[in-house]
Amino acid sequence: MELDVEKIREDFPILHTKNMGKDLVYLDNAATSQKPTQVIDSIVEYYKTYNANIHRGLYDISVKATEKYTHSKELTAKYINADTYREIIYCKNTTEAINLVALTWAEQNLNDGDKILLTQMEHHSNIVPWQLLAKRKNIDVEYVNVENGELDMNDYKEKLEDEPKLVSVTHVSNVLGSINNVKEITRLAHDKGAVVHIDGAQAAPHMKVDVKSIGCEFYSFSSHKMLGPAGIGVLYGKEELLESIEPIMGGGDMIRSVDFDKSTWNELPWKFEAGTSNMEGSIGLGRAIEYIEKIGIENIRKHEKELVAYALEKLEKIDGVVCYGPQLEKNKGDYRAGVISFNIHGAHPHDVATIFNSEGIAIRAGHHCAMPLVNKVLNEPAVARMSFYLYNKKDEVDKAVNTIEKVKKVLRIKKQINH
Ligand code: PMP
Repeated sequence: MELDVEKIREDFPILHTKNMGKDLVYLDNAATSQKPTQVIDSIVEYYKTYNANIHRGLYDISVKATEKYTHSKELTAKYINADTYREIIYCKNTTEAINLVALTWAEQNLNDGDKILLTQMEHHSNIVPWQLLAKRKNIDVEYVNVENGELDMNDYKEKLEDEPKLVSVTHVSNVLGSINNVKEITRLAHDKGAVVHIDGAQAAPHMKVDVKSIGCEFYSFSSHKMLGPAGIGVLYGKEELLESIEPIMGGGDMIRSVDFDKSTWNELPWKFEAGTSNMEGSIGLGRAIEYIEKIGIENIRKHEKELVAYALEKLEKIDGVVCYGPQLEKNKGDYRAGVISFNIHGAHPHDVATIFNSEGIAIRAGHHCAMPLVNKVLNEPAVARMSFYLYNKKDEVDKAVNTIEKVKKVLRIKKQINH
């Protein structure tokens, strides 16, 4: 179904504001998404009418807050096709979710000399926690190569021969937009006995995620990138695995009983959620999921795919512009998400982003928290990036494309060299 983008845009107050005196064109959705009124209102309603701590009170508003928190978990479980909300742990964000896997399952199951396999296209959040663990445990961290904006699956198969205990891979690259075949990656890893974690920060907001079909043990993502509030993220873990892990954070709510010399743990998922939870965050995330589901995640994916094809077609024709990631023809399959990193020959991406800002357009420039990929694989100090969501439209892409000509003019880039 075609999205009614104009109608959707009515739900997002910020899209009707100005940036540098011009209509805001928000193309930095890979960093964070904007929030619809329905999500904002759900949080305001919580604070105005049933603000109370959960799991504690015997009075009505606490019971209501508890029910809403649990309901949010049920919505999240259904959204990614988890078996039960017992498999859904709320954290601060994707970063905390990955660190939680490193500090619990990996800390308790990996030993000196074991290997962890990552890829060259990971966000720092899916590199640094493993490097910290590697230091503590004398573990080797290896990286699957990236070729032409995609994972080199032959290299992956070769590196699996070293029998890593854990494979941790991004579902969608926040720089290249590449969509990895996480089902196949998981199947191959399982054949070698590895446990699999998928970083879904750039996938869960934009495409159907089915953790049962993927088969991975862990999957993480952030609310703020999928129309929900910041400060809440999700770690999905297979129930039997979560049952086998000792918690890392101790305190209220995660216990069944406490005595002076020992304690016992609460049932899943509360065992991993010590202390007062992010109630308003959970309510906002639940509402964001309802919003996405009403529009249909498949419709959102289709819309973004069209925007990317439209933008790539235009960008690839501009002299001096280089786009990274899978090429346009790959967009026909499920290879490319709504992220386009690019450079303009002779222009530093920070200058590009500053000139875009003067036209009201928000894009990102830098290493995008993927320094090894940008610096070593793309061989660039930085790249500019535009990234789309359900409320973006083709005339915003046109504005962005036209601004490239302005960049060239302002920076007096005359003679272009095609890469
Ligand atoms: N992984 C990927 C692929 C990301 O794009 C991001 C956010 N840019 C993260 C992890 C980290 O997300 P957060 O900052 O919400 O923890």
